[in-house]
Amino acid sequence: MTTGAGTTVVIGAGVSGLGFANHWRERHPDADLVVLEADREPGGYCRTVVQDGFVWDYSGHFFHFKHPEIEAWLRARMPGDAVHTVVRRAQIRYAGRDIDFPFQKHIHQLPLPDFLECLVELYFRPTGGEPPRSFGDMLYRRLGKGITDKFLRPYNEKLYATDLDRLDVSAMGRFFPHADIADIIANMRSRPPGAPAAEGYNATFTYPAGGAVQYIHALLRDLPAGTVSCGEPALAIDRAAREVVTPRRRIRYDRVISSAPLPRLAQICSAPHDPAVFSSNKVHVFNLGFDKKGPRDLHWMYFPDPARVFYRVGWYDNIVPPAPGAADRMSLYVEIGAPSDAALDTAALLRRVLDDLAREAIVTDHQLVAHHHVVLDPAYVHITAASLAETDRLRASLAAADIYSIGRYGAWTYCSIEDNLVEARELAARLG
Ligand SMILES: Cc1cc2nc3c(=O)[nH]c(=O)nc-3n(C[C@H](O)[C@H](O)[C@H](O)COP(=O)(O)OP(=O)(O)OC[C@H]3O[C@@H](n4cnc5c(N)ncnc54)[C@H](O)[C@@H]3O)c2cc1C
Repeated sequence: MTTGAGTTVVIGAGVSGLGFANHWRERHPDADLVVLEADREPGGYCRTVVQDGFVWDYSGHFFHFKHPEIEAWLRARMPGDAVHTVVRRAQIRYAGRDIDFPFQKHIHQLPLPDFLECLVELYFRPTGGEPPRSFGDMLYRRLGKGITDKFLRPYNEKLYATDLDRLDVSAMGRFFPHADIADIIANMRSRPPGAPAAEGYNATFTYPAGGAVQYIHALLRDLPAGTVSCGEPALAIDRAAREVVTPRRRIRYDRVISSAPLPRLAQICSAPHDPAVFSSNKVHVFNLGFDKKGPRDLHWMYFPDPARVFYRVGWYDNIVPPAPGAADRMSLYVEIGAPSDAALDTAALLRRVLDDLAREAIVTDHQLVAHHHVVLDPAYVHITAASLAETDRLRASLAAADIYSIGRYGAWTYCSIEDNLVEARELAARLG
């Protein structure tokens, strides 16, 4: 089937695609708009699984809005849904101790020899000279060898599943908790009464009681029925004919807005590109439900130790209190970073996760009563000098043909759902 001209085709019904669709409709209520989603349901990575009374996301998704109007816009579309506001309690398990996050601001909590090494290396870190060559080099120059080698490098290499010296200085953007020597030393003083314990972009975060998918429901609310077509992937884009090809139809477009991963979009558009520059990790997420509570005062914990399979474990049950009458149980998410081409046996990985949780005394005499597994691939893209240059070139050349690549994977970047909504709003305004 071929639909009429003037149609805007959105590829992907995640936060970016749905965000764009809402802003476009606000500006052009009568224009043709189709949102194609390859999966059977909308949401992309912002999705929730409800199983045996546990509410789990596709890995812990917590929210921190810098734009109050964006949060208000979403909240206005989710009446009756409770949204919890939580002050973050995050720690790092280091050599059997629990150190407050971020590591670099709490080195005074380390065993004394490690503390002294971090402090001396911080003081004598290399300064001056050339600008940092890589993300790894930036860490070393800003925070010294001690902090870098004890936490930042092992933790981030476990997460990204790559050498930090491959990554660009901007690899984590605003999400990297920078600290200078004065902050680090000042933080060694005991905290004045009432001073906030948590700092950084997610010091306070929000979380809907029904899981991250509540934000997707909010984004779907004002779209007319039939706008989003699930189970209908964009297989090809014929730029000469200006048509998107799906298994069901060919759709003539005026413009395409895609949140599919950029190398995939380039492929379906037959746009010349260098696929080798687009590397990323994948993240295996295990959501685990246990018959009784574990630690009560923690939201998530980082594990730099290479002997532990996971890089982070989080406690949903300490973020959302159980409904009245519901059992007080432990509800975990466990994240494992891996190279995108790694073949991992899920059953063996789950056994390894349970063994490591027991070694860390997170699980003691608990019984596993429910579990769920999902792989996010890509999860964290490897931002390198080459990926930045190729991303800019490719997005500009596609935009010249009215194909706009947006979102975490369409822009091949590191961002939050709020960043996705801001980008979608700006693009709708620019095109409108
Ligand atoms: C481990 C992890 C933890 C995170 N935690 C947080 C957090 O705590 N807070 C936060 O704000 N953000 C978090 N994020 C980021 C957040 O998940 C993303 O910013 C957001 O979900 C990206 O939305 P998107 O729409 O750009 O992409 P996606 O969610 O990837 O959506 C793209 C959609 O496009 C569809 N698609 C792909 N190809 C095609 C095709 N050819 N045809 C049709 N459809 C197609 C996909 O099926 C998908 O539904 C996290 C990300 C990860 C990986």
